[in-house]
Amino acid sequence: MKIICVGRNYINHAKELNNPVPAEPVLFMKPSTALLINRRPFYFPDFSKNIHHELELVIRISQNGKAIQPAFAHKYYDSVGLGIDFTARDLQEKCKEKGLPWEIAKAFDYSAVLGDFIPLSELKNREAIEFELRKNEAPVQTGNSKDMIFSFDQIICHASRYFKLLKGDLIYTGTPAGVGPVAAGDTLTGYLEGQPMLYVSIK
Ligand code: ZN
Repeated sequence: MKIICVGRNYINHAKELNNPVPAEPVLFMKPSTALLINRRPFYFPDFSKNIHHELELVIRISQNGKAIQPAFAHKYYDSVGLGIDFTARDLQEKCKEKGLPWEIAKAFDYSAVLGDFIPLSELKNREAIEFELRKNEAPVQTGNSKDMIFSFDQIICHASRYFKLLKGDLIYTGTPAGVGPVAAGDTLTGYLEGQPMLYVSIK
């Protein structure tokens, strides 16, 4: 499986990092070795001094597809969950300055925390999914899928032009504002529609 991530999909987050608002989805990928599941702790790596949390809605691909057309995009995912796109912001800034790829800052081992999923059919409004991250119990990020620049369907169409989507692939759909650093001893809890769906402690 592969993990496709969307950068800059909320205007307020693009602004907080002084990035332009994109005209089409900004995509990057993480390998399967980036996954951190089963509420395992995250060990702060030695190559960075500034790891940021980015809480994101994650959709799981439910059937294979290539060059998916807009009218059919909704048929290719059936559940949504929460993930954290851990980012070594110090490494990312160096890569961006030099115009180099971001992989070492974004795709490192255990950089993709994944929580629980719920079927889309169980959501009361799949066009406006609320989510929140609390760090040590205090809210730090709140988001709503209605504020995404590119919708789930638009991301599916765009990504599948370039990358064949396979059942089980994950799409991290971008973070709202409020990203910030984590430190050893912190706990992060993600809520989707008020329900705790993701938990990670930092060691
Ligand atoms: Zn992200």
